[in-house]
Amino acid sequence: MQCASLSPHKNLDTFILKIVLMKVDLHTHSTASDGSLSPRTLVEEAVKMDINMLSITDHDTTDAYLELSSINYPSLELIPGIEFSTQWQGVGIHVIGLNVKPASEALVKGVKTQRDARVKRARRIAEKLEKLGVEGVWEGVQQIAGKSVIGRPHFSQYLVENKHVKTTSEAFERYLGSGKTGDVKCFWMSFEEIVDCIRKAGGTAVLAHPAKYKLTNTRLSRLLDDFIDVGGEAMELISGNQNRDITEKLRSLCIKKKLLASCGSDFHQPGQRWANLGMVQALPEDCEPVWETWR
Ligand code: AMP
Ligand code: MN
Ligand code: MN
Ligand code: MN
Repeated sequence: MQCASLSPHKNLDTFILKIVLMKVDLHTHSTASDGSLSPRTLVEEAVKMDINMLSITDHDTTDAYLELSSINYPSLELIPGIEFSTQWQGVGIHVIGLNVKPASEALVKGVKTQRDARVKRARRIAEKLEKLGVEGVWEGVQQIAGKSVIGRPHFSQYLVENKHVKTTSEAFERYLGSGKTGDVKCFWMSFEEIVDCIRKAGGTAVLAHPAKYKLTNTRLSRLLDDFIDVGGEAMELISGNQNRDITEKLRSLCIKKKLLASCGSDFHQPGQRWANLGMVQALPEDCEPVWETWR
């Protein structure tokens, strides 16, 4: 904080402090869902990369935090989080809960509901793939997923390992992506229930990667209005290494809707295409960072 007194330009100081002193990544995945690093390794990597604030936001689980409860790194603030799957007007949407209490009754219940939905969905995907001639897929994906919350990436791994496709991308294009065999209807908790669950767990509900849903401007605006109506308070303004036009569009929406701003890499594994752990652009200066409300 010393550099704040070195310059008479307060705004510039704030800006410099944000870039130099705060490295924040509030959207990452571990082996508790579909990430490749264990929670402990992920935290150790974050420390090595001088990240100051990290949230592990696994899909529909907070299991990562079971492993981390005894770990304490002075330079790193770990914010308990989760990335919930839900639907809005027929579109698959992700809502992140940040600063939640993993042991709270609401979250434990929510996580169980979502896990059951995932298992049902996985069984259905496996049945459909078996019909297409992909043998042994149910046993195979269970083995791959192990204790992790099961998801489509476990199916893509099975399809690659068993030479049904060459790459993960091909697995999604041919079998698992939108409109394909693996895109089966799933009984997630509703949009409203998810936000309610996050709030009851003491957390802040953040609309994840708003640009990823490929909505028109009108529908994105409507989604944000509905999200605010049910108690959503923040949006992920920066997700991965998104381009400037998207950042500018989301910045103006964030300000217009008076939402708090969050940022995250959506890290799953080292070397991934979109952004490495902690490689997150700074939030625009005129947006209020979500973490400032937790102070
Ligand atoms: P699920 O949580 O089971 O709905 O699976 C969604 C996850 O699959 C996302 O969080 C990504 O990690 C992964 N995913 C989605 N689309 C693709 C793709 N085209 N290529 C690789 N991974 C993908
Ligand atoms: Mn994922
Ligand atoms: Mn997501
Ligand atoms: Mn994610």
